[in-house]
Amino acid sequence: MTPLLLHACCGPCSLEPVRLLRAEGFEPTICWTNPNIQPVSEWQRRLDTLRAWADEVAHVDVIVAGDDRDAWEAAAAPAGFDRERRCRACYALRLAEACRVGRERGFEFVSTTLVVSPYQLFDACGEILSAVAPRFGLTPVWRDFRPFYPEATRESRELGMYRQNYCGCRFSAAEAAIERHEARDARKAAKAAARSAAPQV
Ligand code: SF4
Repeated sequence: MTPLLLHACCGPCSLEPVRLLRAEGFEPTICWTNPNIQPVSEWQRRLDTLRAWADEVAHVDVIVAGDDRDAWEAAAAPAGFDRERRCRACYALRLAEACRVGRERGFEFVSTTLVVSPYQLFDACGEILSAVAPRFGLTPVWRDFRPFYPEATRESRELGMYRQNYCGCRFSAAEAAIERHEARDARKAAKAAARSAAPQV
């Protein structure tokens, strides 16, 4: 098996990338570097979930790398609700730290679990990994694991893993809450329209 450093954003998103990369002949070591996750209690909960699964189920090593919250505030937060700009800065920061660790530990290949979630900016993330990895002498392993997201959802539920309902930063928590409210309002409106269209007897 070929060693590969796998940046992981959380436990549920790690399930399928670890399985699929192993099937390709890679042996992943997980690298946790996510200073984007707010509040800190949420960061801890996601890390604990990841570690429990890595130790007890997947038997994969986890490296806890740097989590520079000040750097995240300086690089990503100023973009505010400009999602493309904010997420690009966030990916760049996390993937650079993962690649720094990869170089330090003698890895040749690097990837990220961000490739499994349909909620991430897939092309932007791939572009950034492809640009950052060579700067640290690493080869990016970029796959489209998004078709396996439903399986990751099913399996993580079955394992009783904690599953968050927002990406990580405070902006994403607000965006996700607005989307949930909009969806609820749309459902209510659809029900009201159906009731008023029903024949009166
Ligand atoms: S939405 Fe997610 S990827 Fe984008 S900036 Fe926030 S935490 Fe980072």
